[in-house]
Amino acid sequence: MSNEKIPYKIYLEEKDMPKQWYNVRADMKKKPAPLLNPATGKPCTAEELSHVFCNELVQQELNETDPYIAIPQEIQDFYKMFRPSPLIRAYFLEKKLGTPAKIYYKFEGNNTSGSHKLNSAIAQAYYAKKQGLKGVTTETGAGQWGTALSMACSYFDLDCQVYMVKVSYEQKPFRREVMRTYGANVTPSPSMTTEVGRKILAEFPETGGSLGCAISEAVEAATSQEGYRYVLGSVLSQVLLHQTVIGLECKTALDKYGEKPDIIIGCAGGGSNLGGLIAPFMGEKLRGEADYQIIAVEPASCPSLTRGTYAYDFCDTGKICPLQKMYTLGSGFMPSPNHAGGLRYHGMSAILSELYDQGLMEARSVEQTSVFEAAQQFARVEGILPAPESSHAIRVAIDEALKCKETGEEKTILFGLTGTGYFDMYAYAAYNDGKMGDYIPTDEEIAKSIANLPKIG
Ligand SMILES: *Cc1c(COP(=O)(O)O)cnc(C)c1O
Repeated sequence: MSNEKIPYKIYLEEKDMPKQWYNVRADMKKKPAPLLNPATGKPCTAEELSHVFCNELVQQELNETDPYIAIPQEIQDFYKMFRPSPLIRAYFLEKKLGTPAKIYYKFEGNNTSGSHKLNSAIAQAYYAKKQGLKGVTTETGAGQWGTALSMACSYFDLDCQVYMVKVSYEQKPFRREVMRTYGANVTPSPSMTTEVGRKILAEFPETGGSLGCAISEAVEAATSQEGYRYVLGSVLSQVLLHQTVIGLECKTALDKYGEKPDIIIGCAGGGSNLGGLIAPFMGEKLRGEADYQIIAVEPASCPSLTRGTYAYDFCDTGKICPLQKMYTLGSGFMPSPNHAGGLRYHGMSAILSELYDQGLMEARSVEQTSVFEAAQQFARVEGILPAPESSHAIRVAIDEALKCKETGEEKTILFGLTGTGYFDMYAYAAYNDGKMGDYIPTDEEIAKSIANLPKIG
């Protein structure tokens, strides 16, 4: 067999790690729509954005022309603590499924934050430090982003203020304590510390909070304190840019063995890991050099690509962030409390939204019980206990591999395994006890939320 020489794990050497991030927008003929200022309805200027975000990150956010952006040496050095991440050939899973398909996954869970989010957290903390800021503010849902950011901030000696969605704050005390161990200040959201938080609490005193609401509080905290800026762990184009280290490493590793994926699969919450995984492959596709089938996987309970509308919308519940054109369920959409916290965002990256709209990638939604079935199957043969978010990608990778079993096609499948699930054991318990349900929003619910989109364009 020609694949006998491919090892279980393909590790790169440090010298093969990417020295530049790849900016896929440079190769897009039709670019994502610009961010709009909600007050004026006009594209946000760098000056306006710099009140909220770090200067250099604003430049990256607005840069649609440079295909490569150098990774500063200090960030490259930090990456060496946990990168290059392994690209694993899922020989055991292939055997278990009895598929002729070859399955590879890129594992990003090998750091204390347990997910890919550290790739962008360290970059954002670096630019904040370089600008001489005192600290940064952010929101976190399930807690992976807050954990990654607190690690990055402690490395650069920056203050880190995290607004954590209240239900998660109460249900995930261990994540909260990891953040505090790294020196972060964690506040359950909505809180009385911000104007927007007080307003939401006055209206909904019993609310367990939401990601959109925590974003509003974090932005207010950043803009009302001297020497602070707001940072975000997903959705923005700068975050997708930092995450391209995932795809670039995959490309180098596969090229070493002359392998080329037919299908590339990733879970999509705000789109950062998927955007980063597919970037170099999408670049080839955009330049007409190669073709790949690319599949975004989202929860059936929060189906922004598969059932949302492509329109300008607010990125937060408080409606203070810039407007972004994206596939959205409406900023007031409250997804049911499913167990993949990182995939419960109402919108999607502007880059991925545009690529999807152009038909350059597909999207599928999957139900949570079938996701946990795939997670369990994967854990039992491959050893890694996957995060519920990551398991969405596993579900579709298994589905595609089983299709190959039927047709006899020897396709090569690559998927992103974004993290580990050790802080998600309540979810696994619900599944193991047979108590997990599936919730799919009705068309009426989605239409009601879409009716409140801002009237623009
Ligand atoms: C945050 C998170 C996601 C989803 O975020 P994206 O920006 O869509 O990548 C997926 N997996 C894990 C483990 C996460 O922590």
